[in-house]
Amino acid sequence: MKLNELTIKQAHDSLVKKEFTAVELTGSCLDEIKKTDQQIRAFITVTLEQALAKAKQVDQKIAQGDSISDLAGIPYAAKDIFCVANIKTTAGSKILENFIAPYESTTTARLKKQDAVLVGKTNLDEFAMGSSTENSGFFPTHNPHDLERVPGGSSGGSAAALAAGHCLYALGTDTGGSIRQPAAMCGVVGVKPTYGRTSRYGVIAMASSLDTIGYFAKNIEDAAIILQAVAGDDEKESTSSNIALDHYSEEIKKDVRGLKIGIPQEYFELEGLDPEVKKIIAKAIKKIEEITGSRAREISLPHTDYALACYYIIMPAEVSSNLARYDGIKYGLSEKSQDLLGSYLKSRAQGFGAEVKRRIILGTYSLSYGYYDAYYKKALAVRTLVKKDFDQAFKLVDVILAPTTPTPAFKLGEKIGDPLQMYASDIFTIPASLAGLPALSLPCGQIGQLPVGLQIIGQQFDEKTILRLGHYYEQNRK
Ligand code: GLN
Repeated sequence: MKLNELTIKQAHDSLVKKEFTAVELTGSCLDEIKKTDQQIRAFITVTLEQALAKAKQVDQKIAQGDSISDLAGIPYAAKDIFCVANIKTTAGSKILENFIAPYESTTTARLKKQDAVLVGKTNLDEFAMGSSTENSGFFPTHNPHDLERVPGGSSGGSAAALAAGHCLYALGTDTGGSIRQPAAMCGVVGVKPTYGRTSRYGVIAMASSLDTIGYFAKNIEDAAIILQAVAGDDEKESTSSNIALDHYSEEIKKDVRGLKIGIPQEYFELEGLDPEVKKIIAKAIKKIEEITGSRAREISLPHTDYALACYYIIMPAEVSSNLARYDGIKYGLSEKSQDLLGSYLKSRAQGFGAEVKRRIILGTYSLSYGYYDAYYKKALAVRTLVKKDFDQAFKLVDVILAPTTPTPAFKLGEKIGDPLQMYASDIFTIPASLAGLPALSLPCGQIGQLPVGLQIIGQQFDEKTILRLGHYYEQNRK
């Protein structure tokens, strides 16, 4: 087995036993990047020198007999929307093509403190807007399972990098599904914690009331280790929560028997759900019934039909406001013109791609005088109804199971001309985002060589239960 194929847990144990060095481990990821990233194109920036320097430091600590953290010397990749001090951070946009972050996101700072090794910054849909990584301002990323297909998005570069063995885990962001959807399509675990569980500080904002920092891992055991390292209150971020963390690596081992499972009937009635995906999910549910010894019960989330429309009002409204700061003066691309307004217009016209512009226009419209009540305010009310549906359901069950995506990875170019079709690929992930709930996707089968993901949704701040169920499922799924 090659070193880059190890899990975090395996690699850590071997580092401590001095079976190989952190430099060797990092080198094996960098070699793999060199070998296959020309086809996959997961990375915008590879931080080779910094990675090797960090790995060397860890090796010195081990040689001196110092104790090291679980993530010390373990190579990871970060979506290029996390600010990493003195490293190019583009958000996948031409408008930030040459932007060097002057400061560090809380998440990458916490990982730095643990001596984690950053191997590079990964490709994404521009400002995280998209479901295929084709909206990147630079180039599309390819799915390692089938190079003619998309890896999903918007954190498609991170999902593809992990699936291709370029790193041992990867960071992403999930606003409406951008971790869970690419995780499903690339056959890896993807975790979106509760909104507020992880700090958004230093992550370029898309839609602030929805943006959630999360990650991709090879299995749940690793996912538990990462959550422990990155989650928790942050004085720099006012929406981060001080609700105590659990000991995730311990929690996942506790018993799952008797756990109450809910199946939202509306999700399975949805037009567009691939019958093959439906079959695979049904099989996974049966397995979980066996594991928990309890029958899954049907629950109802009656406002599911409105979730997508609601998201596509609230999200663009926040996008239009968050992206107002890119004016060609404060950061990045600056196009000269005769006057200031001309420079704003030219910089934004050239710097932003079509999807970003579409959303800025939609958002500006729905926030404008006369339309605010009809659209934005109404959407906020619908968001509350979606949240209440989940509150009702969680009176009856502990976790909710659903497909992550309606179809496996689609072909590059297949949906790019039809935004509504592209938006529909997040139909199963958006409701939990609107409600701020923790949810994860984990591999549960394949159609041909294409992976399918099972989604587990939990109650707010109850990451431990979805991880635990995922862990048991992973161990027993064969
Ligand atoms: N695909 C969804 C969108 O385009 C979700 C994006 C995300 O979660 N960042 O908005």
